[in-house]
Amino acid sequence: MTTSDQARDFTCPDCGSFIFRPGPCGGLSQNIECVGCRSRFNVAHWRGLLVSAERIPNDSQWREDMVPKVLQ
Ligand SMILES: [Zn+2]
Repeated sequence: MTTSDQARDFTCPDCGSFIFRPGPCGGLSQNIECVGCRSRFNVAHWRGLLVSAERIPNDSQWREDMVPKVLQ
């Protein structure tokens, strides 16, 4: 994954999907799961822009009761 092109439209580096299931969030951080290949990422937003995206393990903590509103 490149770090120089953090566009607001995040696509999965594994399968190219742009559809994600939102997971737990805290502050500016939002966990998302690719619906195509189930890769998981932790993304951060600032002023509506995606500013960072970090891959997280598929066995990371993912509590359904922490699922927030739909990812903006
Ligand atoms: Zn994917």
